[in-house]
Amino acid sequence: MKPTLVLVGRPNVGKSTLFNRLTRSRDALVADIPGLTRDRHYGHGRIGHRPFLAVDTGGFEPLVKDGIVHEMARQAEAAIAEADALLFIVDGRTGLTPQDKVIADLLRRSGRPLHLVVNKAEGMDRAVVGAEFHELGCGEPRVISAAHGDGVNELIDLVLEAFPDEEEQKGDQLSGPPGIRLAIAGRPNVGKSTLINTLLGEDRVIAFDMPGTTRDAIEIEFEKNGRQYTLIDTAGLRRKGKVFETIEKFSVIKTLQAIEEANVVVLMLDASQDISDQDAHIAGFIIEAGRALVIAVNKWDAVDAYRRERIKIDIERKLNFLGFARVHYISALHGQGIGGVLGSVDKAYAAAMAKLTTPKLTRALLAVVEKQGPPRHGLFRPKLRYAHQGGSNPPIIVIHGNALDQIPDSYTRYLERSFLDIFKLQGTPLQIRFKSST
Ligand code: GDP
Ligand code: GDP
Repeated sequence: MKPTLVLVGRPNVGKSTLFNRLTRSRDALVADIPGLTRDRHYGHGRIGHRPFLAVDTGGFEPLVKDGIVHEMARQAEAAIAEADALLFIVDGRTGLTPQDKVIADLLRRSGRPLHLVVNKAEGMDRAVVGAEFHELGCGEPRVISAAHGDGVNELIDLVLEAFPDEEEQKGDQLSGPPGIRLAIAGRPNVGKSTLINTLLGEDRVIAFDMPGTTRDAIEIEFEKNGRQYTLIDTAGLRRKGKVFETIEKFSVIKTLQAIEEANVVVLMLDASQDISDQDAHIAGFIIEAGRALVIAVNKWDAVDAYRRERIKIDIERKLNFLGFARVHYISALHGQGIGGVLGSVDKAYAAAMAKLTTPKLTRALLAVVEKQGPPRHGLFRPKLRYAHQGGSNPPIIVIHGNALDQIPDSYTRYLERSFLDIFKLQGTPLQIRFKSST
């Protein structure tokens, strides 16, 4: 489970500067995917072997009681409640303000692990800048400069110390329940709970773990057509009699966490509505996480031929970066099309976990290069020599050769498409990495 770090503080202390610094390297990885829309308040970060999710709560003003600012405060409060660690940012140049004290109270009361971060301290004496903030009662002040990067890695190292790193997590996953880990993601009211109830209907539920803390995701094991699945909740489900119902409002953080923990994500869209920014943002999270994906366009029963045509065009236009995923038109309410979705989930899982041997990959690579070589770049022509598999879910293909840093993105895309095609990997994205020996 990737820890979620939530950045909180009054406006202008440098939250978004820090957020951008933490998430920038991951940005570069997906920046060239045309059409991908992202929510600039949520992002992936990584320091060494430690990946995390970062949340920027924006302009947090707890004293305002209504209007749009109040709505932002409400969302910030939800993020605080769901945080694995809070980074409380204050401004070392302005010094301590009354508003900082109000926020400090609120954060202390949340009971979440809390780190006090004094920003904008480049060129200043750390001990002196930090001193006046002790009185906030939020622990030892950590002094940084988000703009210059001073102290940032040390800070994040310290914050992440409390959480298992990637290697430890891999061990955990092996001991988990068998079957496909599945998340159903989508904005409010697309029909997630309805689909979940249809899936879990009757006696298919094998085990249902109530979480030990609010932070633990609910996991539900169920069986269908002889296959086992573990559903990772994004909706805040509670069991009431035979059915599950949603007990909380839509949570971006829960959605992000569930996507991270899933093997395959079913992205639900509502056929009666146009594709919204929120749909595109969720799609962006799924791409960034590299998850296998199936798209389910729900409420197909409720729309006429005109609307059906329109939503198809809308998906092609606004979610064109999801071209690798199968699309199903379903009615969660009437149980129509669900079998097809699960069939595609199985295929996407198989593709995401495919084992590709070095000889097979190398043969495929050489054939693809033979058909169309990489463009010459100045004096260099990149030489692609062999390939091996560097990971699964998503499959990572590591290509070895010379001058590979000269390969343009368009050629990388061509390689991606070719490998997906040759190995018939339906429903998973694929990652290409280059290792140059010169
Ligand atoms: P937010 O409102 O908390 O998200 O703050 P921003 O990240 O937008 O930063 C507010 C202002 O502080 C901007 O003008 C930033 O350039 C500036 N700033 C952010 N971090 C630093 C820093 O480490 N040092 C200095 N001197 N300025 C900074
Ligand atoms: P969630 O917020 O994504 O969990 O959405 P819900 O499952 O609560 O559904 C929102 C609304 O859409 C409810 O009124 C459902 O009855 C309705 N709904 C869900 N699936 C379908 C469907 O397949 N067809 C129709 N016509 N309505 C649906």
